[in-house]
Amino acid sequence: MAAEPRTLASLVDAYDAFFFDAYGVLCDHQGPLPGAHEAIAGLRAAGKTTLVVTNDASKPPAAIADRFSRWGFSFTERDIVSSGGLLHSFCAAHGLDGEPALVLGPKAALDLATSAGLHPVGPDAAPARVFILDEMGYDFVPTVEAATHHIVERVGRPGPQLIVVNPDVIYPQGNGRFGLAAGGIARLIMDMAAARGVDITPATTFLGKPHAPIFDAAVTRANTRNALMLGDQVATDILGARAFGLDAALVCTGISARADEANYVLASLTD
Ligand SMILES: [Mg+2]
Repeated sequence: MAAEPRTLASLVDAYDAFFFDAYGVLCDHQGPLPGAHEAIAGLRAAGKTTLVVTNDASKPPAAIADRFSRWGFSFTERDIVSSGGLLHSFCAAHGLDGEPALVLGPKAALDLATSAGLHPVGPDAAPARVFILDEMGYDFVPTVEAATHHIVERVGRPGPQLIVVNPDVIYPQGNGRFGLAAGGIARLIMDMAAARGVDITPATTFLGKPHAPIFDAAVTRANTRNALMLGDQVATDILGARAFGLDAALVCTGISARADEANYVLASLTD
């Protein structure tokens, strides 16, 4: 069944909370998208909870809130549910305090990993696990080669060896272009290991959309399951929300243009 074309205004009364994907819905890498400010302001005026539910693990949630502030949004750290923000509870649950880890990402991502209890080490060290937070900030080929080597060496040991914090394969860069995202690097590592004859799937875990941990954190933060996920990527935002039992609206200002799996389709956030 085709998803129903709607405007955001027509959906306000049906839900208590609205979960907004960031890139492709509220913003792209050049700034806010048309209608985003008005959408958030209108929902808040109607007494609705509005959260940003994003796979961005390149920096801590507070830094994501700061970036939105510079773009004219009034989100606080409490309003940001990011895949990177899940690291604290993940590391606590797995007893990883002080554990040496190869962390793929820029300095702000390494700071986030450190604050979650990990001890980031270089690619030549012997890390216990590999965490992929972002696609930027490291010497790409040698780091990916080292990460693959370490995971293949450790596969079969207890617990996840590869932790994909941001599972996005691509992201919208603006002007119709798209770029490689962290999850694409995870697929490359899994393919490299498979070519070596090692299936690292059982040793891999994912924290961000479309996987359950981030939706679980969002409904806990919102204190309701009567929430609508608004996203631009079918594979992560729409299928993830539906699998978790939430309704989902595809917003066609980012990666995907149609989604039979969505409950609704919005051309944009403008009415
Ligand atoms: Mg997006």
